Amino acid sequence: MYTNRKKNFLYLIRNSTIESTRFDECTGCEIPCKEHISYPPEILKRIDQSNMSNSVEKHCRHLCIGQSILPSQWPKDVKDLQGNYIRELTKILHENKDSIGYSIKVTSTSIMSKNNSEQIADWYLFPDQIKLYNVHMKQVKDIVQKLFINDESIIKIKDTTKTIEEQLKQNNHLPIFYENIICEKLHGLWILVCCHYQRDQRCGVIGPILVDEIEKYIRKTNRTDNVHCLKISHIGGHRFAGNVVIYPSGTWYGRVLTCHIPLLIDAYTSSSTTDLKNKLKPLLRGHLETI
Ligand SMILES: [Zn+2]
Repeated sequence: MYTNRKKNFLYLIRNSTIESTRFDECTGCEIPCKEHISYPPEILKRIDQSNMSNSVEKHCRHLCIGQSILPSQWPKDVKDLQGNYIRELTKILHENKDSIGYSIKVTSTSIMSKNNSEQIADWYLFPDQIKLYNVHMKQVKDIVQKLFINDESIIKIKDTTKTIEEQLKQNNHLPIFYENIICEKLHGLWILVCCHYQRDQRCGVIGPILVDEIEKYIRKTNRTDNVHCLKISHIGGHRFAGNVVIYPSGTWYGRVLTCHIPLLIDAYTSSSTTDLKNKLKPLLRGHLETI
């Protein structure tokens, strides 16, 4: 009797040891992880597990239109947002697509702003990493002309003699606009996460959980000055949620779990980045492209 009980005890210990030493090769987290929050099972089972490399539509720039509208309030198509700001902007981009000569991704982003006018927005432009404050709808056409047709941003997309990385290292002058518009350089790492619930529940549920985890890790590692996060609207590929885009490199990742966040941030901020980026390869969807 005693021997049997002892045997059972040893069996339990051995099994719990085996259980606790199973780790995800990519993140180093225990499976299942007790530290990082997991997604609802009904959402997880709807994530596409097929090959996601090269699942990014060709584009050379990403413009995020920042307004004080919560992601939960974004309609299915952000062109239908009250005030028609994005509708007007995309119309102007479309009318000028031949003179622009490359594709620009346009998304909404939710920001805290003192300005509540539907006619005014703050622009975040990547990979240029610049922010334009207070762009009035009436000024959109001129700014599109200056930034995208005349190529007067700090990155000259149409100059193929230098890579974007090389251009970012140079201290190019910020473009000058109207008096009401302030233009500033954005520093550090920018992590954009699709959180568009009314477009697709997968990104709508997973996105905000990821953003919480990102913000938690940024605070924990004292990187609030160097790492920034934006909730954005539809960028393509909800079936691969969580969808995350990193700037200035313009790298897209899919099927991102909360367990991946420390690795993702460390890979773009620490000194041994190559090894860490290699670990992220299974999540890679594609890249921003050059002309
Ligand atoms: Zn974990």
